[in-house]
Amino acid sequence: MKTRHPIEQTCPCGSGKPLAQCCEPLLRGTMVAATAEALMRSRYTAYALQREDYLLASWHPTTRPQALALDAAPQTRWIGLQVKRHEARGDDAAIVEFVARYKVDGRAHRIHEVSRFVREDGRWFYVDAEADAGT
Ligand SMILES: [Zn+2]
Repeated sequence: MKTRHPIEQTCPCGSGKPLAQCCEPLLRGTMVAATAEALMRSRYTAYALQREDYLLASWHPTTRPQALALDAAPQTRWIGLQVKRHEARGDDAAIVEFVARYKVDGRAHRIHEVSRFVREDGRWFYVDAEADAGT
């Protein structure tokens, strides 16, 4: 689904703001995420826009996969993000609980995850998912 006016596109992360004033500056690297939640939202947007470079760059080096091969996956269409919880775990760690919805071949799926994040040198990184959050 391409838009002719990407600058006016609403951000996929569900903030209701234009992409250019929400996650895009993070994806471009002109801004760093101020909070773990902002990073989490930008990573959802990166999945929606297939920005594998950004996903890998925002993944902590200790848990970062070699590649994601997003373009090799069947057409996954990300259709919604709901952030349920954002909690600090000390000064430089946080968790974000979210539900992300997507469709593959017309079938809807959801991911319910509690993600762990750490901040190093002023930048937040995704570490991994806590034990299954249930559904
Ligand atoms: Zn956004």
